[in-house]
Amino acid sequence: MKTVNKMKMIIPAMSKNEALARSCIAAFAAQADPTVEELSDIRSAVCEAVTNAIVHGYRDMAGDITLTLKLTDDGCLYIKIADKGCGIEDVEKAMEPLYTTAPEEERAGLGFAVMEAFTDSLKVTSKVGKGTCVTMKKRLIGKYE
Ligand code: ATP
Ligand code: MG
Repeated sequence: MKTVNKMKMIIPAMSKNEALARSCIAAFAAQADPTVEELSDIRSAVCEAVTNAIVHGYRDMAGDITLTLKLTDDGCLYIKIADKGCGIEDVEKAMEPLYTTAPEEERAGLGFAVMEAFTDSLKVTSKVGKGTCVTMKKRLIGKYE
């Protein structure tokens, strides 16, 4: 498979940038003629990953979120969302549905479950004190069906 287009953006971890990240990724994905449902799935998954970087990764600190996007000639969109925040001690446990370290903030522990449900693959790597990287793949049938 060949990369047909790519994009990288670095934004400060601020809640107002969550909408910005979502819109930019949707605009990038638009070139592959995704369906309305695919676009909505992408927006939901990105929203969860970026929110996690802001509220968990950079809980008490400022920092940047790096978004890396790639579109391949088989119609797949690869989305990488990385922070250099606090990291996750046990990734497997963190990815379990309903697991949250912030129940007092009325978090449901469903962010990773949403990312998993709305994409075709989800990979999470993390190192305590170094940060977290979430990679998602979404197959877009639009143009390539
Ligand atoms: P919800 O997403 O439903 O509001 P949540 O954010 O707690 O709740 P998940 O998104 O599934 O649920 O994340 C589970 C847990 O993984 C979080 O509570 C947090 O402890 C940890 N986590 C997730 N993303 C990060 C991150 N980027 N940096 C540090 N910890 C993270
Ligand atoms: Mg979350």
